Amino acid sequence: MKEPIDTLLTAAMVVTMNAEFELIADGGLAVRGSYIVAVGPADELRGRFAPAESHHYPHHIIMPGLVNAHTHLAMTLMRGLNDDLRLDVWLGYLMPIERQFVDEAWVRLGTKLGCAELIRSGVTSFADMYYFEEAVAEETAAIGLRALLGQTVLMFPAPDASTYEDALARCRRFIEGWNGHELIQPAVSPHAWYTATPELLRACVALAKEYDVPLHTHIAETEYEVQNCTHLHDMNVTEWNDEHGILGTKLLAAHCVHITRPEMKLLQEAGAGVAHCPTSNLKLGSGIAAVAEMQEMGLKVGIGTDSTASNNDLDMFEELRLAALLAKVKRNDPTDLPARDTLALSTMGGARALHMGDKTGSLEVGKHADLIVVSTGGAHNWPQFNHHPEAVYSRLVYATKSGDVQDVMCHGRWLMRDRTLLTVDEAEVTAATVPIAQK
Ligand SMILES: [Zn+2]
Repeated sequence: MKEPIDTLLTAAMVVTMNAEFELIADGGLAVRGSYIVAVGPADELRGRFAPAESHHYPHHIIMPGLVNAHTHLAMTLMRGLNDDLRLDVWLGYLMPIERQFVDEAWVRLGTKLGCAELIRSGVTSFADMYYFEEAVAEETAAIGLRALLGQTVLMFPAPDASTYEDALARCRRFIEGWNGHELIQPAVSPHAWYTATPELLRACVALAKEYDVPLHTHIAETEYEVQNCTHLHDMNVTEWNDEHGILGTKLLAAHCVHITRPEMKLLQEAGAGVAHCPTSNLKLGSGIAAVAEMQEMGLKVGIGTDSTASNNDLDMFEELRLAALLAKVKRNDPTDLPARDTLALSTMGGARALHMGDKTGSLEVGKHADLIVVSTGGAHNWPQFNHHPEAVYSRLVYATKSGDVQDVMCHGRWLMRDRTLLTVDEAEVTAATVPIAQK
């Protein structure tokens, strides 16, 4: 007798991104509840399971959903507001705007718009850092994406807290309200060492450890930041963070553009995740992170878009392609960050950087069904050479566009089918941004 399952998906190719980088031609996977219960040849699965729902994709790839390892989702409402500025000047414009305009309703709308864009580009998990993070959590959970959500703690007055003590209390309430949720992982987010005091950093570390939750912060984004840190504290940025216990947490460090080899070693030994944000680093003139070197040293590196205020989109296929290209000019070596490794950074690597590698990032039995179906039918994907078993990675990294993502499932739930979003009303959300832009 066949085993009952909820969904059987079969396709021309299954790209598992498991430890063996297994590829299954004419493969599929079985989903029961939120979990993947089998991955293998399509014929075998058809013989073994009785699915309530089944879909066959003859000209498609099934692969893990992408992981956007660093963003500020609600800032999607500031897309294109301040372009072509230096990071410190850019922050000088943005932070007063945030204090004046950002409230809970703003954050909810920005989150919905951001989630719509993420789903369309094949993302099923993301790491966020912003204000009113409980509102981000509610919208994200309702829409059905998986996320690490960091409640920001700043030494300045913020849109959701007038003091850092208030911000910490808010962060504690957020963690208590959401820790253990099936999709949402709350986290503590001191914005960066330069918007924090030593006391603030230590209090954030204590809070993260008390609840065993991740800590999400920015590290060494610009050379200017590094010079300031060395000048003020006679230490580099990673050492200064380490001095205050940050590396003793489940750390997710965004950027790490200007870190030395010893700093990489510190981060690697701490089991820290690094979120590489190539477009944002280019747009703000920050530099190019040494991703291939970090990867060789065994760091948990993921790829992120950062916010649309410095990108200006959340397109992960564009981001991972850029990551592969930049890695090659960083050391003038075109063999750095080959296609397969780049796709690994944006799937399993991102999941590990977010400290959720046991839940998502690859198509394996026991993990949640976080997956995307990618069409290979577009003109930009032909011809399709199969001279090398890994040619599929080349197509996915160098030629595929986010518009090729046809279906998206997260936690066993369909979020997009045939390019139609099922859990967010895109027309309503985009219309609601018009009065915001006018204001
Ligand atoms: Zn950021």
